[in-house]
Amino acid sequence: MNENIKKTALLPKVYCSIFGHDYQITKHVTYHVKEYTCSHCKKQLTTNSNGNLIELTPKFKEINSILEKIHLSKTQRLKRKNTLSSIY
Ligand SMILES: [Zn+2]
Repeated sequence: MNENIKKTALLPKVYCSIFGHDYQITKHVTYHVKEYTCSHCKKQLTTNSNGNLIELTPKFKEINSILEKIHLSKTQRLKRKNTLSSIY
């Protein structure tokens, strides 16, 4: 029983090393920055300021959460502006 669990836990990494990672978007931080997770081994990537994919380290998670807050407040302000202009 235990052996079976070990084998299935090892498989995704073997799969990725042969076929490559299968990244899926798990979070839209801003229009340009997204977070990706490999559906097999759960490795996480993010987009950096140059638009390249890099490993999602705790530091980048922090940066992304700040970016997300800034992005949210911007889009909310934009929405408010739009509703105001539709009233007047
Ligand atoms: Zn993978």
